Amino acid sequence: MIQDASSSDQQAFVDAVDAWVQKALRPVARKFDLADEYPHEIVEQMKELGLFGATIGEEYGGLGLSAWTYAQIVLKVASVWMAPCGIFNSHLIMASAIERNGTEAQKREYLPRMATGTYRGSIGLTEPNAGSDLQAIRTVARLSGDHYVVNGAKTWITNSMHGDGTLLLVKTDPEAEPAHRGMSLLIADKGPGFHVVGKLKKLGYRAIDTCELTFQDYRVPRSKLLGGVEGKGFAQTAGGLELGRINVAARGAGIAEGALKLALRYAQEREAFGKPICQHQAIQLKLADMATQVEGAKLLIKRAATKYDRGERCDLEAAMAKLAGSEAGAACSQEAMRIFGGYSYSVEYEIERYYRDAMLMCIGEGTNEILRQVIAKQLVSRNRI
Ligand SMILES: Cc1cc2nc3c(=O)[nH]c(=O)nc-3n(C[C@H](O)[C@H](O)[C@H](O)COP(=O)(O)OP(=O)(O)OC[C@H]3O[C@@H](n4cnc5c(N)ncnc54)[C@H](O)[C@@H]3O)c2cc1C
Repeated sequence: MIQDASSSDQQAFVDAVDAWVQKALRPVARKFDLADEYPHEIVEQMKELGLFGATIGEEYGGLGLSAWTYAQIVLKVASVWMAPCGIFNSHLIMASAIERNGTEAQKREYLPRMATGTYRGSIGLTEPNAGSDLQAIRTVARLSGDHYVVNGAKTWITNSMHGDGTLLLVKTDPEAEPAHRGMSLLIADKGPGFHVVGKLKKLGYRAIDTCELTFQDYRVPRSKLLGGVEGKGFAQTAGGLELGRINVAARGAGIAEGALKLALRYAQEREAFGKPICQHQAIQLKLADMATQVEGAKLLIKRAATKYDRGERCDLEAAMAKLAGSEAGAACSQEAMRIFGGYSYSVEYEIERYYRDAMLMCIGEGTNEILRQVIAKQLVSRNRI
């Protein structure tokens, strides 16, 4: 259930998350990132905070937070360290798909456990040959009695090593034309035939488990077909895009805001040619552009999220927010690197992590190239002459 985005309870939760971010997350971010080590202690703290149930409805044991409240939480976390957002974000995308599309039995079985973080999930869409073009996936699930038998491979699946299962996009009818009519989502718990091949080594977004998966005669009970009807998987996936894009927008804007804060501080501490570098006009221009990008992105996120919370169509707004937030993250982290000069290259300073983490936001939940096309098509269709 979506509550009033401005309710004081929700604001209190944002404040509680912010306090945790400053007290518990900030001091350990660099250690886990540089060691590329899974932050188990952070996961336990996030469970206690209730983050794994943030957007799950109260009737299923979650907090039922609005999209705007959730976006503010993501902004707070990402402004210090973006990677942990992925641990609860992919999980909540799976939960939201179950809540929107699942049978009542599926909701009762999964959502209460997901709300506490006892069961942690991921999103299994991408394959080695298919990312943007999901209709080209090759993983096939064939019905045999009361089970689907799954064969295929997925890659880049975040949360899949330490999580308990994935929402798996498969072809239940590989011959269907158009292909999306033969695609389904399975709630795939780990079990025999579900193999986590290994954790991928990444430029950024480290410490988090992003893995390759293979499925060899992996059996899933028919009751785990999301919504109970075949051929709906592509539409069910697309139905989560608006919320997913608002979340990625908030991650990008959080990175941008965090990079700006670090740069603002450094520019006042560092001196060159007899004065703090913030008094050089070249640095001032950067700070001004960065701050403007951050505030612009946050306004677009708020606009998209509040439309989402009102139940209004917001595909254009969510795409704009995602584009602006992720580009702000990439641009501001790069400008902050320039402000830090040579020290930007030292792992003693945290700005290099923001720079390494930022680009992913331009790729995930629809690449920005594709999003620009979404925006342009919407503009034309809403402004036909
Ligand atoms: C760290 C990380 C974590 C991830 N986590 C997950 C996860 O948890 N679950 C999951 O399912 N996936 C995950 N992904 C995969 C991610 O969603 C894909 O990488 C993304 O969708 C892009 O797909 P691709 O990499 O195959 O690129 P491609 O689709 O091959 O695109 C390559 C380039 O071509 C461009 N392009 C492609 N088609 C078009 C078009 N029609 N018009 C214009 N340009 C186009 C793209 O914009 C891009 O520039 C993750 C990826 C990374 C790197």
